[in-house]
Amino acid sequence: RSKELGRNMVQFYMPTMNARARERLALEGALRSALVHDEFELYYQPQVDLVTGAVVGLEALIRWRHPSMGMVRPDRFINLAEETGLIVPIGAWVLRTACRQSRAWQHAGLGHLRIAVNLSARQFAEPNLVREIARVLDETGLSAACLEVEITESLVMGDVESAIRTMRELKQMGVQLSIDDFGTGYSSLSYLRRFPVDVLKIDRSFVRDIPFSEDDAAMVAAIIELARGLRMRVIAEGVETEAQLDYLRRRGCDEVQGHVYAQAASGAEVERLLRTGRHMIPHDANGMSVR
Ligand code: C2E
Ligand code: MG
Ligand code: MG
Ligand code: MG
Repeated sequence: RSKELGRNMVQFYMPTMNARARERLALEGALRSALVHDEFELYYQPQVDLVTGAVVGLEALIRWRHPSMGMVRPDRFINLAEETGLIVPIGAWVLRTACRQSRAWQHAGLGHLRIAVNLSARQFAEPNLVREIARVLDETGLSAACLEVEITESLVMGDVESAIRTMRELKQMGVQLSIDDFGTGYSSLSYLRRFPVDVLKIDRSFVRDIPFSEDDAAMVAAIIELARGLRMRVIAEGVETEAQLDYLRRRGCDEVQGHVYAQAASGAEVERLLRTGRHMIPHDANGMSVR
């Protein structure tokens, strides 16, 4: 009886599992060849000072231009890259490309903008990471102070002591550290106190419903206070409306990143934007200026 049941289960589940496994395998193969065929690109999203409206930094965000699938967003392939270990060579490419681009913009007289690079758990656990970053800075000539690395709380939680060691080494080099998606991970405040980080990035999910959701507004205000108390900068992610912007400004948030100022765009587009000036004008979803 149970054997029969087992067989039925197998019949029921196998086709879907196969399909998923096949899709995964295909995606993995495509991901491998993407590196060889240079299908990755970096987009850059401005980080804007809330008081002056000036672009003060850029976050590098990976894109995959697949010959037949078109533009693939990182949400669709970063996890798989992480599981397969492909994130290590991909991440190395991201780091080098972002630093080189930032240096090129400096040379072109477009200012010393901070460049923020996302690190994955696997990359952060690589024993070579610090040396690799030092080498990339050396090769590209970018000063460490211009590089910011973004890590998430959950990424750190595996081996906290070794993560803290890595963070200290990066800090010693002069690289800036930020906690991405802050508030969505599992870390406790006692850890945060021990992390030598410079920046907290408030996750988009807390920003979305402010100022109308009182609970979210309270959370955002508390995170800004916390950051200030710990002498960290604070950046709000996913800011889309004037109302959100006003609330964040009133609460003393330092910087914002979001569609209200600019979406992530190709290097060429960002360069064009920077050439027209460092100052950004907020606009709503219809592209209308709100100021
Ligand atoms: P993240 O690091 O939290 O990046 C912010 C994401 O929010 C980006 O999505 C950005 O395009 C999006 N975003 C920014 N402003 C707004 C807004 O106003 N509204 C909305 N709806 N979205 C906004 P993206 O580029 O699709 O990246 C998704 C995630 O993929 C990133 O989240 C990051 O975790 C990961 N990722 C991206 N590039 C890399 C990379 O080079 N390496 C690694 N390890 N992860 C990356
Ligand atoms: Mg990020
Ligand atoms: Mg984030
Ligand atoms: Mg994220």
